[in-house]
Amino acid sequence: MIDLDARLDSVIGDRTAKPLQKAFGMQTVGDLLRHRPRRLLERGELTNLSELRVDDEVTVLAAVLSAREISHWDRKKARLQVIIGDETGRLELIFFGARSFYHAKELVPGRQGLFAGKVSEFRGTRQLAHPEYMVLKEGDELAGAEADMYSAKLIPIYPASKEARSWVITRAVWLALSQLDELTDPLPIEIRARHGLIGLDAAYRAMHQPESRAAWGSAWRRFKWDEAFGVQLVLAQRRHASAANPALARPAKHGGLLEAFDAQLPFELTEGQVEVGEELAAELAQPHPMQRLLQGEVGSGKTIVALRAMLQVIDAGGQAALLAPTEVLASQHARTIESMLGPLARAGQLGGADVATRVTLLTGSLAAAPRRKALLEAASGEAGIVVGTHALIQEHVQFADLGLVVVDEQHRFGVEQRDALRGKAAQPPHLLVMTATPIPRTVAMTVFGDLETSTLRQLPKGRAPIATSVVPVAEKPAWLDRAWQRIREEVANGRQAYVVCPRIGSSELKDEMAQFEADMADYDFEQEPSRRPPLAVVDMLEILSSGPLQGLRVAPLHGRLTSDEKDRTMLDFAAGRLDVLIATTVIEVGVDVPNASVMAILDADRFGVSQLHQLRGRVGRGGHPGLCLLATESPQGSKARERLDAVAATADGFELARLDVEQRREGDVLGVAQSGKYSGFEFLSLLRDEELIGQARAEATTLVAGDPYLAAHPLLAAQAAVLNADDRTDFLDKG
Ligand code: ADP
Ligand code: MG
Repeated sequence: MIDLDARLDSVIGDRTAKPLQKAFGMQTVGDLLRHRPRRLLERGELTNLSELRVDDEVTVLAAVLSAREISHWDRKKARLQVIIGDETGRLELIFFGARSFYHAKELVPGRQGLFAGKVSEFRGTRQLAHPEYMVLKEGDELAGAEADMYSAKLIPIYPASKEARSWVITRAVWLALSQLDELTDPLPIEIRARHGLIGLDAAYRAMHQPESRAAWGSAWRRFKWDEAFGVQLVLAQRRHASAANPALARPAKHGGLLEAFDAQLPFELTEGQVEVGEELAAELAQPHPMQRLLQGEVGSGKTIVALRAMLQVIDAGGQAALLAPTEVLASQHARTIESMLGPLARAGQLGGADVATRVTLLTGSLAAAPRRKALLEAASGEAGIVVGTHALIQEHVQFADLGLVVVDEQHRFGVEQRDALRGKAAQPPHLLVMTATPIPRTVAMTVFGDLETSTLRQLPKGRAPIATSVVPVAEKPAWLDRAWQRIREEVANGRQAYVVCPRIGSSELKDEMAQFEADMADYDFEQEPSRRPPLAVVDMLEILSSGPLQGLRVAPLHGRLTSDEKDRTMLDFAAGRLDVLIATTVIEVGVDVPNASVMAILDADRFGVSQLHQLRGRVGRGGHPGLCLLATESPQGSKARERLDAVAATADGFELARLDVEQRREGDVLGVAQSGKYSGFEFLSLLRDEELIGQARAEATTLVAGDPYLAAHPLLAAQAAVLNADDRTDFLDKG
């Protein structure tokens, strides 16, 4: 008898093992048994042949209708023509050469079989040329195990290849299962019982030889659980380990910066801000590193929450670093923080308060002298707050005593970068990650599984709601004129506006299109190959400033400008010296100009749901009601229009995040939180298995709390160790 580690060739024979190894890299019995059927066909439930498309590689279940030998004096031109199908459609099987006539012995009218090959078309008839097939014998034509296999009610269809057809895999699996020893189940029996999970051995058998669809479903559920539980165990262990890590406690101090800051705040904190603030204050006071994810709706006031945490750390003698995803955002943060702190940010300067610190901006584009100064202020500890982009994590940047790292807009930031920055402190600093892209719970539980989560759901009082409407350019071109007029009206009232385009400019169209498509590759947008290129900032600048927006102070903002130009434009806009910014999504995150009240997003259908939500969060930030116009040429009833209507209909970022996730392909779900990483789950769906993941997380946490190294569960411990070391868990946050 054998186990999962047995070599495949020694169990099923070299001849069957070779193609499996070649096609799927299978080496062991375990590899074979983890190759799961994609679906089940029910004997008698025939494939709908009318749905097949030319060039598809298919495996179909169908009945033979007729078989005709077509003779020819040239034996090579003789052929066997078999028609399979039923009232739903027909498919021709064609075999060339008189020698192929022997197939007629098997392909007898009335018999059912599986047929596999590539669909082609010949004179309007769809056919499979030289298909491979397996005729399903009736019970009395076979004996023993073979009979069971061929007469099974449910026929598993495996991902197959030319070398290894689905039924070849079926045969190999049956052979392997018939020799397999009963498997020991690593999952504790109490956990199985609590969640109604079948045993591992039964699960493997039901996966490949299901007696019913329900049995197959139980097997699936068990394997999903194993995936979820495995990941959660690793995360629980990491949380446990990092909770045991030492960090300098940074407790709040009387008479410090934080108190002085709170005293001068021009508004009241929201309940959520107070609550999360207390949570952070308590954790910073612990001698273990805080690891927290703060998610909050756009405009919910995360910056102040973070700033207050930073001030507490500075009061305790440490420094704080704030990382932003773009230079525009970094310099804006530095400016806002400085102006919010006022005299508190002018340590050692004229007009500085008694207790005061300094805010230093450090970005890649600084000139040599200010850069030297910034580096010095960071290294000497003079700067309590260092704001920057990823330039901050370059090796020669040093801190006197880095106590807190705040990462704004996590989804633009790699885990490695975060780790590199944290490496700059003698002891791990406290960590606060902020995101305005609400992360679906399942993703939060896996990708950010070792961070605790806080949420700001409330917007500050007095925030006027943002009205959003769709402008259907194709059906109602006049509405677009009305949109420009609206912008002029707002500007006439002293307000400001954004016009957002998907692209920068008409030069370098090809590169830009490639980049654009790469960015959008996560989405299952419907294919519209004939569409024109998306509208561009450079073009619209010209069109608008000499047309509908003539006479207004208009400027472009996009990634091809130098950072000086970007900075200047942002400053001018913030100071009211510009009326309208025509921009790409560089303004998507964090840009905060309270006087801006209207935004027109052109070709809005080219953006994802969360992106649109982020974008519109840029208006209505002051007391003025915000208006967001989503202009699109997509016709009514198209998927794109539905998406835009959904954005217009709700202001709830969490609901939109869900919608966003649903629109992405499963494998890309993690891209919501971290681009470019794949989930690596075979069975588990981050979209649909929220409840199961939650259960697995709870069980894993309990188990690890009582037995951190899983001493009582050596099999689980071994699995966790493997998973921990596996590249595929790189997407998991390394705590
Ligand atoms: P986000 O969470 O999107 O980063 P910000 O931190 O930029 O939001 O805050 C948005 C705006 O709301 C800022 O202008 C900020 O000064 C203001 N703000 C923050 N908290 C409050 C509050 N409690 N009351 C009034 N305004 C607030
Ligand atoms: Mg922000």
